[in-house]
Amino acid sequence: MQVDGKHILIVGLARSGVAAAEFLARRGARVTVNDAKPEAELNDAPRLRAQGIDVVAGAHPLALFENADLIVASPGVPLALPPFQHAKAAGVPVISEIELAARFLRGRLVGITGSNGKTTTTTLIGELLKDAGLPVQVGGNIGTPLISLVESSREDGFTVVELSSFQLEAVQTLHLFVALLLNITPDHLDRYDSMADYAAAKANIFLNQTAQDVAVLNEDNDWSASMRERTQARVLAFSRLRELGEGVFLRGDQIVSRQQGQEQVLLSLADIPIPGAHNVENVMAALLAGLACGAPVASMRETVRNFKGVEHRLEFVADINGVRFYNDSKATNVDAAIKCLEAFPATDPKSVIVILGGKDKGSDYAPLAPLVRERCAQVILIGAAADKIAAALGDAAPLLRAATMADAVAQGLAAGAPGSIVLLAPACASFDMFDNYEHRGRVFKDAVRQLAAEK
Ligand code: ADP
Repeated sequence: MQVDGKHILIVGLARSGVAAAEFLARRGARVTVNDAKPEAELNDAPRLRAQGIDVVAGAHPLALFENADLIVASPGVPLALPPFQHAKAAGVPVISEIELAARFLRGRLVGITGSNGKTTTTTLIGELLKDAGLPVQVGGNIGTPLISLVESSREDGFTVVELSSFQLEAVQTLHLFVALLLNITPDHLDRYDSMADYAAAKANIFLNQTAQDVAVLNEDNDWSASMRERTQARVLAFSRLRELGEGVFLRGDQIVSRQQGQEQVLLSLADIPIPGAHNVENVMAALLAGLACGAPVASMRETVRNFKGVEHRLEFVADINGVRFYNDSKATNVDAAIKCLEAFPATDPKSVIVILGGKDKGSDYAPLAPLVRERCAQVILIGAAADKIAAALGDAAPLLRAATMADAVAQGLAAGAPGSIVLLAPACASFDMFDNYEHRGRVFKDAVRQLAAEK
């Protein structure tokens, strides 16, 4: 792609926008960056200006959009914004940072999307390929912007990329050698009109795939399984619930692969150190990607055995007098919170004290009620969504309110007894009380460690 001398407008000055601007400026493009936030909130503006990049802050002037040769939209900016529609009507192409990167990256791409499990699966696939001795780099939604990986990409290597539904909007030529769609469950319904719209964005992961490529689908999730019709690629499916004619599935406590009539035991459940049935799904999906890329089974088994999981995902924090604390601040939607609760089997008396709440994303919390009733001795509610969750849970468990995370942790310990689990799995976004889910998780862990030090 030729960008030299082109007027390129980057909309949204978060991490990927900054990386895209710098990348394009290095290649001789005339770059303008635009963000609706006031200049004072754009910390990167001076650094960009020093590289000859224009920064326009505080509004989206239409002239900027009309006069560009190309617009690169950051994932945080909704494409439904009028200036984008205006640009498209004026014939200006609008692409995402992922699409921009896709036009420059060398080698093969492995992409992971889904409502939940993306980061865990992306991290594991990166480790599976690295341990197998394959050249690999990891980026996208997980951290390093994809555009930052262009220069280090190699023809004989793999780039493993975590893709959010937002990042999968406005892609055109993105072509994945292996595309994984882990699951689609309700999320982000504040940004999408319907589940069908949300699924349509995710389905872009299969765009441009050919019969030489691989699509990894989840037979246990209807939305994912239905994508069989949307891809030209060879489908490798996984299921935790039933044996498949072709794909990876659970038989007793063994994970078995069946491909072209050949069966092979890949792992046993005891090889998976991270808790929860959902992590069995993530491991199955990652193994299929590893097989597609040519990683040997023996090497993959060793990697899974040593996999520590990812921070803020069912992360064990501390044991205080027999009460164990787990941080799953990343459970930012209802399905993820359900999966967390399912990871702790029902006991008598009930053992789980769950901390729920935060910023509501238009979610229905009623699906939590049966599990809460079955497994939770206590619910502690925090944040703006507390009333809505309380109404949805009804009498499923006794409810307490906490004003701060430290208060929630202290109440959790007070309500617990030896054998109890205090689980942060909020089912909500964090932005009402915290900068992001990582911040929320760190505040939780700090509060737990503080209490542990006092006991
Ligand atoms: P993502 O990157 O898609 O948000 P993560 O791996 O960071 O995925 O996990 C996010 C949350 O979802 C965590 O709360 C985790 O416990 C839960 N989770 C992880 N994998 C799955 C899965 N396959 N299905 C449902 N929930 C999952």
